[in-house]
Amino acid sequence: MIVNAGSYSQSLPCPCGDLQNFGRCCLPYLQGTLPAPTAETLMRSRYSAYYTKNVDYLLKTQHPKHRKFNSRQEVAKTANSTTWAGLTIVDRKKGQVKDTTGIVEFIALYRIGDGLSQLHERSRFQKEGRQWYYLDGDLLPPYQPKRSEPCWCKSGKKFKHCHGKK
Ligand SMILES: [Zn+2]
Ligand SMILES: [Zn+2]
Repeated sequence: MIVNAGSYSQSLPCPCGDLQNFGRCCLPYLQGTLPAPTAETLMRSRYSAYYTKNVDYLLKTQHPKHRKFNSRQEVAKTANSTTWAGLTIVDRKKGQVKDTTGIVEFIALYRIGDGLSQLHERSRFQKEGRQWYYLDGDLLPPYQPKRSEPCWCKSGKKFKHCHGKK
């Protein structure tokens, strides 16, 4: 079943974690009003699309070369079976307005039982014309902050007092 995304209000904070409202952040990209200008904004808008279960947008922003490997059913299954809980961009290379390739490393948090888990991925993006596309990504081992840095789960505690507790 595909849940319609229309229920997420544009006046709520954007799911991608930017401080803007949804209506001023990822929504114009999801609606096709504007192309995402950078690899990072495309990545953020794809996270928001997973969050709001906008399968059409996820398919549309996969590079055409890779589309056949990720069927609508698979994308819908991932979107519908996961409760996303936050996004942190860890690193980016190129992917600016004038570039045609870009790399974005991120942590996407999701709920699992009572706790949180992380998807840590380095994604590659490519621009064709004015449109950025998701090309592919490498799954990475769980992101480990330094011991006195904030925990990846956004609890506000230091890593050593939270998921990094020995
Ligand atoms: Zn956003
Ligand atoms: Zn934690």
